[in-house]
Amino acid sequence: MERFDYVVVGAGTAGCVVASRLSEEPGARVLLLEAGGSDRTLWIQLPIGYGRTFFDRKINWMYDTDLVPGLNFRSSYWPRGRVVGGSGSINAMVYVRGRPEDFDDWRALGNPGWGFADVLPYFRKSEDHDWGDSAFHAAGGPMHVTDISGRVHPLCATFVEAARQLGFAATADFNGPEGEGVGVYQINTRAGVRASTANAFLRPALNRRNVKLETRALATRVLIEGGRATGVAYTRHGREVSVAARREVILCGGAINSPQLLQLSGIGDPADLAAAGVAVRHGLPAVGKNLADHLAVSYFYRSRTPTLNDELRPLWGKVRAGLRYLWDRGGPLAMSVNQGGGFVRSGAGLGRPDMQLYFSPVSYTQTPLAARKLLNPDPFSAFLLSFNACRPTSRGDMAIVSPDPRRAPRIRPNYLATAQDVADAVTGARLLRRLAGTRPLADIITDEILPGFDVKTDEDLLADFRARADTVYHPVGTCAMGPDARGAVVDSRLRVHGVSGLRVIDASVFPTITSGNTNAPTVMVAEKGADMIRQDWK
Ligand SMILES: Cc1cc2nc3c(=O)[nH]c(=O)nc-3n(C[C@H](O)[C@H](O)[C@H](O)COP(=O)(O)OP(=O)(O)OC[C@H]3O[C@@H](n4cnc5c(N)ncnc54)[C@H](O)[C@@H]3O)c2cc1C
Repeated sequence: MERFDYVVVGAGTAGCVVASRLSEEPGARVLLLEAGGSDRTLWIQLPIGYGRTFFDRKINWMYDTDLVPGLNFRSSYWPRGRVVGGSGSINAMVYVRGRPEDFDDWRALGNPGWGFADVLPYFRKSEDHDWGDSAFHAAGGPMHVTDISGRVHPLCATFVEAARQLGFAATADFNGPEGEGVGVYQINTRAGVRASTANAFLRPALNRRNVKLETRALATRVLIEGGRATGVAYTRHGREVSVAARREVILCGGAINSPQLLQLSGIGDPADLAAAGVAVRHGLPAVGKNLADHLAVSYFYRSRTPTLNDELRPLWGKVRAGLRYLWDRGGPLAMSVNQGGGFVRSGAGLGRPDMQLYFSPVSYTQTPLAARKLLNPDPFSAFLLSFNACRPTSRGDMAIVSPDPRRAPRIRPNYLATAQDVADAVTGARLLRRLAGTRPLADIITDEILPGFDVKTDEDLLADFRARADTVYHPVGTCAMGPDARGAVVDSRLRVHGVSGLRVIDASVFPTITSGNTNAPTVMVAEKGADMIRQDWK
């Protein structure tokens, strides 16, 4: 059996950071297992290409959730990257850390070392920001953050001005000291190319000789002897392989696959394991529970002035955008369609922002946004406004349904299960309407395409939300960090409760969902997790 010091499962957002940082220790041998293949394809590297990878079975796990009662018994489609770079290779690249209070919440839940002051150095450690060094940002880290404010569609300024008229502050930096308000998102690209953690961390690390990346390697089980993780079993090209981990096994499979692998290994809620026909090695009831996600809806508006639709829809527009990209790696192909947005309080008396906003100068009503035909927007001028509650309170769960590692687990998001989340759906819808009704945005709107101005009452707005709202692909929390093994999976050093030599380091350890997009905080968790491993083995 080949032996490594560390076996890391999953070369996604977190796994690429963890493997890279662990391999900085010269003597350490690191194996990184990835179920998918290479990320060296045009549609992954080209920023706008995430429209194409959304439904590509070759690089995407393509999960469908169970029917969701709160969404009129619709199923939700959950893309997850199955490729080097993981979901960070197929995401929309928006760089948002979350609100400082999110991390203070984590600490208050019994996780010392995870308050905002503790985690800020790890956000900075990964960062190479366009703006250089400051108290909140850093230059010279592996992962580039691009300020696109000078390049976004001019309508973003119209959106910001309307929000200002409504009383919201404008901010230049959602990740800075004045992070609340409306403005333009920063994105993870470098010179017009996606800055996934695969590009930023793993690629340079592979030049060191002590890290080995094994692609098309599906981990099927953590090997456990005497309460200690000793290695990993995986399949590759039909062959069963086992590798030994001298020091630790680290799961970085993401919010669905890390708990899945624990369960396949007999670590989980005994009732879930029994139902799937897996023998219990270590009962840990919180595995797969506490699933949280952001649920959003978009409102579409016809516009008097041209939008990105007019640039991208015509054939000549696509050609021009392509030539522009080839010329200077700029233009709309070098960005996400999520350009403007914000973190705002929907009412008085709230201690912190409760709503995240998106403004995209583009619309997809003829091909739904969920179909992700990003280069084929509507053939008329239009844009979209969107919101999600920052910290939904509903919690779902996931569990394996069979001992077969190839079988997709059952996912129950349980959206809109609390009165708070239902109330937020109406509050957010009203907020979008107020924005659209405020000049200068109101001046350019000729019609509301969806849901339509005849949808007016709270009941109608909620019914529309139930009919159209969907995930923004931020599942977290299924291997939650916490001090008590009855309600958490890992401790504050990300060690699995009750099994030594085993950690989970990815979005699944978030004890609560952060207020914004989840990639940047996952990178932070990975930086901090890798640092803790290195400290513990010093
Ligand atoms: C379409 C989409 C758009 C998004 N947009 C944004 C955005 O704009 N901004 C933002 O901040 N966040 C965004 N996100 C969310 C963000 O990308 C994720 O939160 C983040 O990537 C999670 O990282 P992770 O390391 O936990 O998991 P992942 O990045 O999903 O990595 C898990 C890796 O483990 C591998 N793996 C799983 N099981 C096994 C196994 N058994 N054996 C071997 N390998 C395995 C997977 O193939 C994958 O490569 C988006 C996500 C999606 C899907």
